[in-house]
This record gives sequence, C-alpha cells and structure tokens, in this order.
Amino acid sequence: MTHPSTESEVLRLAQDLIALESHCDAGDREANIGRFLVSWFEGAGIESALQYVAGCRANVVARMPGGDGPSLMFNGHMDTVPAGDMRDAFTPTVRDGVLWGRGACDMKGAIAGMACAMATLARSDEASRLTGDLLFTGTIGEETGSIGVKALIEAGIRTDYAVVGEPTSMRIGIAHKGACFIRICLSGRAAHGSCPEQGVNAVSYAAQIIRNLENELRLTLALRMHPLLGCSTVSVGRIAGGTQPNIVAQSCFIDIDRRTLPSEADVLDEVRHLVSEVCNQVDGLSWHVEEMPETSLVPHVALGTSADAILVKTALQTCERLDLPGDPIGVTYWTDGGHLASSGIETIILGPGDIANAHGPADRVATRELAMCMQIYGDLARRLLLAS
Ligand SMILES: [Zn+2]
Repeated sequence: MTHPSTESEVLRLAQDLIALESHCDAGDREANIGRFLVSWFEGAGIESALQYVAGCRANVVARMPGGDGPSLMFNGHMDTVPAGDMRDAFTPTVRDGVLWGRGACDMKGAIAGMACAMATLARSDEASRLTGDLLFTGTIGEETGSIGVKALIEAGIRTDYAVVGEPTSMRIGIAHKGACFIRICLSGRAAHGSCPEQGVNAVSYAAQIIRNLENELRLTLALRMHPLLGCSTVSVGRIAGGTQPNIVAQSCFIDIDRRTLPSEADVLDEVRHLVSEVCNQVDGLSWHVEEMPETSLVPHVALGTSADAILVKTALQTCERLDLPGDPIGVTYWTDGGHLASSGIETIILGPGDIANAHGPADRVATRELAMCMQIYGDLARRLLLAS
C-alpha cells in the first residue's frame, strides 16, 4: 500500500528546514538541522545517523538498504549563507504559490523533496524490492569550502549514482567549471624611494604579470571552449604590496581566480610558466605560486558527466514523463557534485528553484516545483533501483 508524500508534506518540511538557521553566523552551524533531519528520517522509518566532521558539526546519512545492484545518493548541503539583506529570512512564508526564506532555493527545498521522495518509497512495498541502496546525504559547510562532502568521501561512503539538488529550475545539469584560487608571491629588494635603481620593485613586476595574465593567458583560455560551459577564465581579484611611497616595494602578492573546464589540468604550472617568463631573468627577485586553501583543502574540480551516462539518460526519461525539458545543461556555479564525481560517482545536478535567486533577498522556490522535484527524485529512484 502506497501513501505518497503530498505537496503539503514537502512544503511543511521545507518550511521547518528554513526555520532552522544553519549558516556560518549561527552558533551551532548545522547541528540543529542535522539532528532534526535524523529524527525526521527515523520517523519515516528510514535508518539515519550523524557523521561528525568538526566539533558538533555533522553530515547526515540516511540509508534505505537494497540489494547488490547499483546504488543512488541524493545529496544536499544543509548550510545556507546568512540572512544578509533578506528580511524575515528564517520565518518561511508562502505567498501566491511561492515559498520564501533563506535556503528555499539553495537548497532546503531540494532536501525536502529528496526526503519526502524517500519517505514515499519507505511507506510502499517497493522499499523491500530495491535492487541497490538509496541514500540521502546532507552535507555541512558547502558555502564555506565543502568540508562536509570531503569527510563523506573520506569515510568511504560511495554510490554508483548521485543527484545533487542545487537549483537548476529542474533541468539536468551535467557540467560545471572547477575553481582554482591562486596566489602569486613576489619578493624583491627594498631601497630608498629616491633611488629606485638600487631596489627590485615587486609591485612593478606584479604589474607586468597582471598585464600578461589579462592579455596572453586570457586569450589562450578564450580558445578553450566547452559546449555547455563556454570558455575557461582568469580574473585578478586582489593585489597587495609595498609599504609606503618612499620605499621601493620589497614584496607583493596577486590573488587570481581560475575557473577551469573538465578537460583542464596543470593550471598552476601554466601560471608558473607565465610568472617565470617575467621574473626569472631578474637579479634579486624571487617568486612562488601556490593554490590557496579556499580551493585546495577540498579540490574544486570541474564536473563533466557524459550526456550518454546511464544516470543522465534515466533523468531524461523522468523529465520527459513530466513534460520537462530533458536536454542537459551546464551550470554556472561550483557544487559538491564536482567532488562526488571526482571520487568515481556518476553525478548530475538537478533541483528546484533558480540560482539567480540564491544568496540574495529573493531566495524563493515555487511550491509547484517542490512537489515536482519530489516526484522526479522518486521516479528516478524507481527507475534506477527497482527491477522492471
Ligand atoms: Zn547551494
């Protein structure tokens, strides 16, 4: 006997999740929402546990055991950005069929849809016929470096397929760029500002490097095109150097943001080569290039799932059944899915809401999309995990 989750059930869960603050300024970060989800899954008859990552901060892992066949993971990050300029961010409200609140679209709405899809399965006789495991993983810290998904993988949690519920307006996302934040450090020689020829000015050489980044490297990257993601990019985000006008600048650093395509490797070597061409012939100037911790602690690799992958083709069937466009897209932002895919899990991004509304004062999702994502996740699980 099946008791499908209703639109009101998924809406209520999404509202409950929004009301539980889980951002970097909240005292216990994701602890409250993690405990809430564990007890919610247990109430739905689904085995669930916390996986502690840092202090009281823990991932949630819920599991419906199946046979030895291919397994599927629904994944959503439980943290959000802080309220910022959103009013009443943690008092979820529904107006004209739209749910408003911090995390409505990024991505507590999707988590509600995933959980309710699993609850529907758990209440049906299909639960005993799963040919592979069905997991939900709620991760911590995606907005601040993705330590949660890294811990998940390090704990050995693997499935054959993963659906990450970041907002795609219910399109099938198969690709996104990677990110590599790079610091270029230059060290020259200080001297009196009235005798610049006595010094080696790190700021001046930094200026030459920036010119080469903007001209040479950017042109090279513009030729590397991905059909869904466009071209690879470089952007200078910060420069700092010197101490005061009358001292030749002894040191300078440049921070750059490299967004990479799935096919790109050795992006650090590329920058090192460019810096060496400017600096290597200069007496008294030393330099080094390093990836910054923001992207190196959890490698922000690009996602590039094949359009021919089983998961993509199955999602296409699901979307067509619901009259949604099925042709795969690339998304503009980085996700935990890059990390899941780099550990060998076939991964797509598929969730309710528009990324344009994430992180800002208009964080919202249509209640119709919430109900639809629950249907999509459920249908996908049935197609992948139930023998026909
Ligand atoms: Zn997100």
